Amino acid sequence: MEQTKTDAWVSVKMFCPHCGTMNVGYKDQNGRCRFQCSRCTAVMVCVRKNRRHDQIEITVPKESERMNV
Ligand SMILES: [Zn+2]
Repeated sequence: MEQTKTDAWVSVKMFCPHCGTMNVGYKDQNGRCRFQCSRCTAVMVCVRKNRRHDQIEITVPKESERMNV
């Protein structure tokens, strides 16, 4: 079994929308990225809808509700 380079996950950097910490996540072949913030543990899932539209879902841990509201 050989693995081609195109199957490898691409690392992506993103700031946590919740606390602003820089995190590194990985993008799979379907264009989905998943991050977990190392600081506030919020989970972000980035889904590619089309070339111009990404959708980001953020799940914030119960203990630290949204800071910016
Ligand atoms: Zn965070």
